[in-house]
Amino acid sequence: MNYQVLARKWRPHIFEDLMGQSHVLKPILNALKMNKLHHAYLFTGTRGVGKTTIARIFAKSINCEAGITTLPCNQCSICQDIDAGCFSDLIEVDAASKTKVEDTRELLENIHYAPVRGRFKVYLIDEVHMLSNHSFNALLKTLEEPPAHVKFLLATTDAHKLPITILSRCLKFHLKKIPLKVMVSRLEKILIEEKIEFELPALTILSRMAEGSLRDALSLTEQAIAYCQEHLTAELVGEMLGVLDTEQIFKIVEYLMANNAADLLAHIDKIHEKSVNYELLIDDLLNILHQMAIAQIAPAAIYTDQYDKRKIQALAQKALPEDIQLFYQSGLIGRKDLAFSPDFRMGFEMILLRMLAFQMQPVASAQTSVSSQAPAAATEGGGRTNQVTALAEALLSENVDTLNHQSATSGDSPEKK
Ligand SMILES: [Zn+2]
Repeated sequence: MNYQVLARKWRPHIFEDLMGQSHVLKPILNALKMNKLHHAYLFTGTRGVGKTTIARIFAKSINCEAGITTLPCNQCSICQDIDAGCFSDLIEVDAASKTKVEDTRELLENIHYAPVRGRFKVYLIDEVHMLSNHSFNALLKTLEEPPAHVKFLLATTDAHKLPITILSRCLKFHLKKIPLKVMVSRLEKILIEEKIEFELPALTILSRMAEGSLRDALSLTEQAIAYCQEHLTAELVGEMLGVLDTEQIFKIVEYLMANNAADLLAHIDKIHEKSVNYELLIDDLLNILHQMAIAQIAPAAIYTDQYDKRKIQALAQKALPEDIQLFYQSGLIGRKDLAFSPDFRMGFEMILLRMLAFQMQPVASAQTSVSSQAPAAATEGGGRTNQVTALAEALLSENVDTLNHQSATSGDSPEKK
């Protein structure tokens, strides 16, 4: 038997199987039930959320031999031909490769002829925003007064590129990105059916990386199945994608809170071997700090599908609010500058070391020996706190001049003796 990729094999064939798009399905199902069908529908949304899938199921619903229905039979020859992509009354066009007006004219040439087998002739135009202006004008004429046997189903990732005249003639449906939880449960179901072993955290990693696109999630899963040899563990999937296990990220936060530079750097050394993606690592760190800040102010309000809530709450109880704010802001600024550092590891380490340098916590003995050679005012407790506060404020306001001046003063003094 021919091997079929997961994204195609598991493409939904009925509305019920579409994930996370109930806000779009409700009006469509009602229209089908009441048999009040508009002549043009526009589906928008990011890649891989089900735009053309929904359009194909709709084409089956209005052409199924069993009658116009919310649940196409998937058994009749029309349903099966639509699924197989060989139904003559469903004309699918990829506008990205047919942008010219001649293409559109050719497409619409036979529009007045009745459908051959179905009830309706369905024009499914994908990536419709790619059409040229002349093409839109040609399409517009038909959209104004289409024959009764024609339905237009347009799909695009870029609705704002469509002329307003086209938009105003369509019923518009925006498909949302698929929520993480929904995506994880879908992957779980598919892998069970496919008889592939997995750890749930591995699916969370895959779903996160897919950023709301189910097709991306399935492609990544396919890659992971090959990489992990049919047993998806969080460690291997993380390794494949350069994403760290969340426990490892919590450890970074703990070392930061304890102002423990030695263990922190040793930890980075260890995770560096896993060819970690430092940009994603900073994103994770920022996410955790964000949840910790919420946990401190309103513990019940924290929300996260990705990280252990109890762990976040425990860390939040121990951390100073000022530290969390400072770590977050340093991470945010550092994330922007990461691309400019000679290498990502160096950039990442400098972000963490800057967090430690400006931390509000009492100075550990190791740091005192350095600052003991600094000017007298700085070694006194109050002086140090003031200096740190000033540095923190400078960092928070991104006031680079103040920052340079401050670090030059405190940095030079030990060497000058
Ligand atoms: Zn059917």
